[in-house]
Amino acid sequence: MFESITRNLGDALGSIARGRLTESNIRDGMGKVRQALLEADVNYDVAKAFTQRVTEQAVGEKVLKALRPAEQIVGIVYQELVSLMGPVDHSLAIRRGELSVIMMCGLQGAGKTTTCGKLARMLKEQGNKPMLVAADLQRPAAIEQLRVIGEQIGVPVYWEEAARSNPVQVCVNARKEARAHDCNVLILDTAGRLHVDDALMKELMEVDNKLMPDQALLVCDAMTGQDAVNSAKVFNDALELDGVILTKLDGDTRGGAALSVKAVTGVPIKFIGVGEQLDRLEKFHPDRMAQRILG
Ligand code: GDP
Repeated sequence: MFESITRNLGDALGSIARGRLTESNIRDGMGKVRQALLEADVNYDVAKAFTQRVTEQAVGEKVLKALRPAEQIVGIVYQELVSLMGPVDHSLAIRRGELSVIMMCGLQGAGKTTTCGKLARMLKEQGNKPMLVAADLQRPAAIEQLRVIGEQIGVPVYWEEAARSNPVQVCVNARKEARAHDCNVLILDTAGRLHVDDALMKELMEVDNKLMPDQALLVCDAMTGQDAVNSAKVFNDALELDGVILTKLDGDTRGGAALSVKAVTGVPIKFIGVGEQLDRLEKFHPDRMAQRILG
């Protein structure tokens, strides 16, 4: 496992250390680790803080006397990645016999509408009765997109004419409709924009205050790296997120966004999107992501 980073680190440590490793050799070798994290798209500040913490641990351990110091350091890096991206948390706070509300938010194009469908499909398979709500009145095609998705997975979609309504009203009306139809999960597909702005946040906070969702989940595109981190911070400050769903991990992205987003928000990454199809949603596992980041 992790042959390439171990080799890199081994080269770095080997070339600087004649005989015995020193603390400063380790600090230099940690530069290789930081480079590997940056190549995996981890945010710079997050990578820096991470390697500092690992350096302290590595120096404190028996790495200096180890026969294979590079492997030992990579082991510490791996464990630290797993622990920072954990603990495992796939809960969605769904109650039976009562209506739970899940508010989905994210930047336009992140995969929010698709992920609403994926989540509804998964919950339905688990025996729940979900309803989707087209609360994105900004993007005209979003309502139609959600209706098509609902049709595909056999889940009802609540929607109103965008010109004649507003997002809060749509959500409030949807809640009544869901109760009338004995649904136990309401999934709100809220508006996204290309960039976070005050108007978007105000709209989301209004929906949040009025509906008091049981879960506020951020949908983040893992391929956007730095953008994902910046937007996650803004959304979390405004909405107190309960979790994140990282999308587009089926591409060749190394998944560094998972570490960065968890580090800046502190909220768990619950699921990952691994394809455009509606069954391409998986539970997030920190250990698998740590392996992917280290390559
Ligand atoms: P929204 O603007 O955030 O609602 O984004 P959409 O749900 O419309 O998705 C934007 C694009 O990303 C669409 O082409 C989706 O099919 C695609 N998409 C969403 N999730 C994934 C994923 O996990 N993997 C891949 N490859 N594409 C995805």
